[in-house]
Amino acid sequence: MTFSIHGLAVARGIAIGRAVLVASSRVDVAHYFIEPAQVEAEIERVKRGRDAVVEELHRLQQTIAQLGPKDAPHELRALLDVHLMLLQDEEMVGGVKHWIRDRLYNAEWALTTQLEVVARQFDEMEDEYLRERKADLEQITEKVLRAMPGQGTASVLPVAVTRKTATAELQLEDTDTPLVLIAHEISPSDMLQFKQGLFAGFVTDVGGKTSHTAIVARSMDIPAVVGARTASQLVRQDDWVIIDGNAGVVIVDPSPIILAEYQYKQRQLELERSRLARLLKTPSVTLDGEKVELLANIEMPEDALGAMKAGAAGVGLFRSEFLFMGRHGRLPDEQEQYQAYRRAVEGMGGLPVTIRTVDIGADKPMDSSFVETSHLNPALGLRAIRWSLADPAMFLTQLRAILRAAAHGPVKMLIPMLAHLSEIRQTVALVEQARAELQREGVPFGAVTLGAMIEIPAAALMLRTFLRYFDYLSLGTNDLIQYTLAIDRADESVAHLYDPLHPAVLRLVADTIAECRAQGKEVSVCGEMAGDVAMTRLLLGLGLRSFSMHPAQILSVKQEVLRADAGKLTPWAQQVLEADEPASLMGSL
Ligand code: PEP
Ligand code: MG
Repeated sequence: MTFSIHGLAVARGIAIGRAVLVASSRVDVAHYFIEPAQVEAEIERVKRGRDAVVEELHRLQQTIAQLGPKDAPHELRALLDVHLMLLQDEEMVGGVKHWIRDRLYNAEWALTTQLEVVARQFDEMEDEYLRERKADLEQITEKVLRAMPGQGTASVLPVAVTRKTATAELQLEDTDTPLVLIAHEISPSDMLQFKQGLFAGFVTDVGGKTSHTAIVARSMDIPAVVGARTASQLVRQDDWVIIDGNAGVVIVDPSPIILAEYQYKQRQLELERSRLARLLKTPSVTLDGEKVELLANIEMPEDALGAMKAGAAGVGLFRSEFLFMGRHGRLPDEQEQYQAYRRAVEGMGGLPVTIRTVDIGADKPMDSSFVETSHLNPALGLRAIRWSLADPAMFLTQLRAILRAAAHGPVKMLIPMLAHLSEIRQTVALVEQARAELQREGVPFGAVTLGAMIEIPAAALMLRTFLRYFDYLSLGTNDLIQYTLAIDRADESVAHLYDPLHPAVLRLVADTIAECRAQGKEVSVCGEMAGDVAMTRLLLGLGLRSFSMHPAQILSVKQEVLRADAGKLTPWAQQVLEADEPASLMGSL
């Protein structure tokens, strides 16, 4: 039966494919595809994990047998029997083998997927006693996950996921069937594991439009919907699903008519893309001759290739924290970071690369298993520059690595989340210290310009102070909106209040652009606002000439720039800025 689920549209386009559900688990579970040659070894890993748990339960049974009924109640014996029975359950065992053999899921993923399948059957049972056995199944699955050998290594170094691996396998079932990923939540670092283009689309239950998971989905340039609330409960493994990333709608089990309609829409969008591709070499200049710099946001050094292909004039934001994620707390050392930054710099072939120092915290934990429990509100806690300044040795390591990479091409250093003069002073002093150390040690390094992100209203209200210390500013509108409006950007329940056109947000953005221009300093926007074509004319009218966005958005924004007359946009933008309801004027020019 066809039904639809509504969420938030985060990445444009239409995907049609079979659902792959990634179940959430209390245990840190890695999701990756294995090579066909690894199938038997993966099945063996599950078997060894299961055998270890069976052995443990047998031992417990023996201990209990020696105790009297008072110390070992009947319920405990019965429970052990149930656990042992569930471990031998044929549906569970057969299902796990199916996901490994036929889908090439790694052992942990196969186990949690099958748990999800069987758990749903328990949910549907009439008998309350049987329904409650679901908790037992979850418990023993977790035990097996923990007992399985080799899990640690697997989740640190996921096997590279390639389209080849997936399609080679899918030929066994259905040639070229696209896969779409459905999950309750995917951490930004897990999302990166899927970056090699395996999935045709994503849906998550939670998340806001500018949550970092959404940002990574957008960088992958595939349709995505977040905040779809119950999607991961309503969709089943292998269901046919349409993801309409423009409308934020997920259609499950579509009828042939609906399918045909979306296939048509899909073709239209492809045509539009190929039309846009003609703009690749066109210089980005407005009708009245204003040059506009279009830069790329990247997460990994390898993304430089996509940035070049999209015709970016450089990298306006390299989110370096992605190098720090999913490593079980082991941070990249100076050499590893230097090599990564150098790859990005060399990949851009002489175009400038803006490396943002690490922004860990809030919805970007270092590991997906890491749940922030010690701080009540991590978005207001030890995040970004606060985290870096709390560990100066770690920060110095990163600063040294960036300075060293600058010996290989133009680099701009960018500092996130600054709000206090003391933070500015400490940061500047540490950059100086890093330079002095490298100089003393005779290690080659290059010149960098130093910029600050304007992401907190306090920063936007003390621009003159910032401009005394920094060469340029970059507006992080994702956080600026979050902190101005007190809206958690990752929380779908308040997503309707997350408003880039709120008069207070526009005022802070406009003042930052104006102050930089007045002082002859560079300013750019690197939040999602920069890649939103609905905002291009307004930002141009406010005087912005540098936009940084995901490579996939560059040509659409360029099209807007080419159609714009900056001179005419200026007075209109001032009207929008003065309005009580700026959104009502957006279509008025
Ligand atoms: C921003 O806040 O707008 C920004 C670009 O940084 P991030 O999205 O990584 O927080
Ligand atoms: Mg930010």
